[in-house]
Amino acid sequence: MKSLYDDNVAKEFTSDLEFRVYTSRLLGGDSSLVLHGGGNTSVKSIIDGEDILYVKGSGWDLATIEAEGFAPVKLDVLKQMATLTKLSDTEMVSQQKEAMIDKSAPNPSVEAILHAIIPFKYVDHTHSDAVVTISNSENGIELIKEVYPDYLIIPYVMPGFILAQTIYNELKNIDWDSCEGIILHNHGIFTFDNDPKKSYKKMINGVTKAEDFLEKNAPLVIEKYMPRAELDIENLQRIISKEKGYDVFVKVNQSPLALHYASQRNIQDIATRGVLTPEHIIRTKRNPMIIEDSDIQKAIDLFEEEYLEYYNEFTANEIMINPTANWAVVKNYGTVSFGKDEKEASIIEDINNHTMKAVLQADMLGGYKSISLSDCFDMEYWELEQAKLKK
Ligand SMILES: [Zn+2]
Repeated sequence: MKSLYDDNVAKEFTSDLEFRVYTSRLLGGDSSLVLHGGGNTSVKSIIDGEDILYVKGSGWDLATIEAEGFAPVKLDVLKQMATLTKLSDTEMVSQQKEAMIDKSAPNPSVEAILHAIIPFKYVDHTHSDAVVTISNSENGIELIKEVYPDYLIIPYVMPGFILAQTIYNELKNIDWDSCEGIILHNHGIFTFDNDPKKSYKKMINGVTKAEDFLEKNAPLVIEKYMPRAELDIENLQRIISKEKGYDVFVKVNQSPLALHYASQRNIQDIATRGVLTPEHIIRTKRNPMIIEDSDIQKAIDLFEEEYLEYYNEFTANEIMINPTANWAVVKNYGTVSFGKDEKEASIIEDINNHTMKAVLQADMLGGYKSISLSDCFDMEYWELEQAKLKK
């Protein structure tokens, strides 16, 4: 992965936030680092004599972020929050909002506390495909330790306060001089520095380590497959629309990757092992439905039956999300994504493309392995997501 940092562009910048916007956009512009609102960045600055953390606001995309996309939050308040023994994520979000010095700014990222407790001016966080591909493999943690000997490695913990608290405890004994960055297992990577260019370059170097490892140990060759199955798209659209209760937009993907993936003999086993990074679950659900013959209704019924089982196993009275799949792998045909409109279907398709590639590569490392069913449920039924449904 190449650094895109251009000193000629950066020499015009005078404020911390200008540098922050610039390198955030460099990261956001690469879909192998962050996808559709994923990842977040921050800078610590001083405003009217007070320490302020500017952290990515929710609803903003790193690729297109502007200065006003960063939420200015009192740093001391965030650091204090990290020391609490217990805090619900709803309460965390509300306290973070309370600590903003500009109430018209967007809500701070749910990872704001984490950014606050890393004692460097610039903090960069991505969900790099290469890093999570290695991480989401059978011996992921060992492989990650091998690739990242100078990084702090945190076993999977759900995003939100509990993750911030876990890292707060880990950081108590850390030797920062020998820590190049942090890997959140099954989730992503953090780099940091007091200099914006160095923090960005550490991200590029860190991700390159994973890319080099994959190139050597899991080189993916996409074979040329032709579609060998038919799909009655209109029928699929009609049935999915009925199940979801609104007219869905369906987007067919027959790219070489999608065809290669859908042509695997044991696609049912291959494609149903979970998401690449936890936040994807909100868009894609844990798994796609698998269509292996012309009986689309049967495939939908099976998916919903399994979804209900999963919901019933873990629920403590959460509002159930519509149990229909958000995308399908159609054997020997390709994939189909379902959205409320073209935009949503495209986002789901983008995520699927990155996931399919990661699954195929992680299988070369001994087997793709995502977070557990129970961790999936916690993410999909996160109180912050439930709150949106209640609205
Ligand atoms: Zn993240």
